[in-house]
Amino acid sequence: MRQNVRSTFSTSERDSRVKVALVFGTRPEAIKMFPVVHALRAQPGVETRVIVTAQHRGLLDQVLEIAGIVPDIDLDVMVPNQTLDGLTAKLIVELGKAFDAEKPDRIVVHGDTLTTMVASLAAYYRKIPVAHVEAGLRSGDIHHPWPEEVNRRVVACIADMNFAPTQAAADALLRENRDAAGIHITGNTVIDALLATRDRVVADASLASGLDDLAARFAGKRIVAVTSHRRENFGGGMEAIARSIADIAARPDVAVIFPVHPNPNVRPVMDAVLGDLPNVAMIEPLDYPHFVRLLDLCHLVLTDSGGVQEEAPSLGKPVLVMRETTERPEGVEAGTAKLVGTDRALIVREVLALLDDQDAYDAMARAHNPFGDGGAAERIAVVIAAG
Ligand code: UDP
Repeated sequence: MRQNVRSTFSTSERDSRVKVALVFGTRPEAIKMFPVVHALRAQPGVETRVIVTAQHRGLLDQVLEIAGIVPDIDLDVMVPNQTLDGLTAKLIVELGKAFDAEKPDRIVVHGDTLTTMVASLAAYYRKIPVAHVEAGLRSGDIHHPWPEEVNRRVVACIADMNFAPTQAAADALLRENRDAAGIHITGNTVIDALLATRDRVVADASLASGLDDLAARFAGKRIVAVTSHRRENFGGGMEAIARSIADIAARPDVAVIFPVHPNPNVRPVMDAVLGDLPNVAMIEPLDYPHFVRLLDLCHLVLTDSGGVQEEAPSLGKPVLVMRETTERPEGVEAGTAKLVGTDRALIVREVLALLDDQDAYDAMARAHNPFGDGGAAERIAVVIAAG
């Protein structure tokens, strides 16, 4: 861990570049922030530093390595079975110390994690302006997703630059009386990450060859890609999801590929129900190129993830969302995503409909980019550089 006693920014009086610290801690944040890091670094008037909290250690490191980003400060806060209280307390103290040492002119945070919310608060306590990437997503229900819906609302109270991925997100911010001059509609940076990574995988198949090897084991079967990790689904929801996957995988023409999130509330439930099923490959979390390859070659996606809901439509894959509400209605409105909750019978019915009804499948399987065009990070960097 870097000792954060002195600023890592240049301290030369003659250096007039704006000092920007990007702060993040989890895999999805890293995926959506690496294009912003690269775009800001290409701006001559900006000096950047990357501060990671490592709220999810292993998954974060996978992305940093692929993206070629070495954090300037690594707070390494992860401990086993961390509570929201304990993590919040630790983050506010450690991020505060880092900001006192670095004295950035601005911080940039992403989305709705605890790192994001607490970093914004620590910056506010020091009167450091905050830019929020992926601002304005709202489910309208503070318990779904939990605690993310409140995390992002707190950031919106603080940020002076709000980068809304879509018009709907910008409208949500305007409804909350946020200053229109600080709202910029940019598209979602996940599409930048996805398209760039897919290009890399197309150019160099060895980046995702492990996935191709796995898929070859299931030759002739249609692949259902599954991810599940949402906190509000822990317990009964996870159990129902596991049982629905078992029902689906009973079909001989289907294989399920399921990179299992390491959260202790996920793996044991899945192991107990799906452990011995021949058509189910429960695997370790995939690095980003392998996951993009999985999205590319699967038939459909079953997920409770936020980011995956945004990525799948860009690759023309129907996505069934195992949640009661979504803060990403654009996919549902475009007809490429459908909410199925965590009801076992409903999940199975919707998957079977997509497997057996070609018209229903074709209606959802349209490549569509409601979330962005791949140019979001550049737009964000230009606004931040202009200050
Ligand atoms: N992802 C990945 N490997 C995996 C599963 C997901 O790289 O094994 C990526 C996925 O492409 C998406 C992000 O992780 O960009 C989503 O992360 P997660 O579902 O953990 O979080 P959420 O988006 O719900 O906040």
